[in-house]
Amino acid sequence: MTGGQRPRLLLLHAHPDDESIMTGGVIARYLAEGVDVRVITFTLGEEGEVIGHRWAQLVADGGADQLGGYRIGELHAALRALAPDPASAPRPRFLGGAGRWRDSGMAGTPSAQHPRALVQAAHDDLVATLRAEIDDFAPHVVVTYDEAGTYGHPDHRRVHEVSIAAIAESRVQTGYPLKVYESVTARSALNSGLAAIGEIPDGWRMPEPGELPSYPDGVITTAVDVTDVLDRKVAALAAHATQVSVAPSRTEYALSNLIAQPISPVEHFIRTDGRVGADEGVRADTGSRVETDLFEGLR
Ligand SMILES: [Zn+2]
Repeated sequence: MTGGQRPRLLLLHAHPDDESIMTGGVIARYLAEGVDVRVITFTLGEEGEVIGHRWAQLVADGGADQLGGYRIGELHAALRALAPDPASAPRPRFLGGAGRWRDSGMAGTPSAQHPRALVQAAHDDLVATLRAEIDDFAPHVVVTYDEAGTYGHPDHRRVHEVSIAAIAESRVQTGYPLKVYESVTARSALNSGLAAIGEIPDGWRMPEPGELPSYPDGVITTAVDVTDVLDRKVAALAAHATQVSVAPSRTEYALSNLIAQPISPVEHFIRTDGRVGADEGVRADTGSRVETDLFEGLR
């Protein structure tokens, strides 16, 4: 960045915990580099399944329906864990204010019919609300989800669709092209991460081949090394204790389905704005260089 402009990174997520699972490394790395990082979460994650007994009665279905409020605290703790100085960590920030839109739950569940469910919200309302956030923050880089919604969760698909529309309408002018990325898992990194897993905790299982979503390496445009801040990412994952279990090895984690997943020291992205990268041939499948920094070309 020239002119002393502080780089700004905006990350868009569906539920508390997605920011740490998918992008905890880049959040920690760029916070450590002094980047202004903002995380906007679309829902409180009210419909999550709780791991363990301690907070199990907070759930929406047949419980106290207090999980969403509780998860604000987990998100707060995770963001503090990702920051070099917890006091200056980004604060939880929810689209439209906390509680405006609700976790729609997995596809086909009754929670999708809730009047505040994210999938019930008017597209234009969501886009206008997000566009105001983007215009306010004026990011240089935005990270969102792929069209498939990571693993097909209706809220993740909605985040993708609303992000693309809001970015297209945004009037941000930083003097730089707005770089847009989709957060994804690279197939070779997933497979090597799974191959490196040793003993897993009792009750966990390894995923079936192809069970975890991933993209062929050829479509990955960007690989960011987060080795130096991996401890922070692991601590952030552990902060989401109702949703995420970190193995004693601290190299893998599981959600409530108890399927082991590697905690990768490299986070992968597909760049979609095309305004700089496509012209420069930043593509793995052409044998050309893969970006190693989300701000590459901007500073
Ligand atoms: Zn999610």
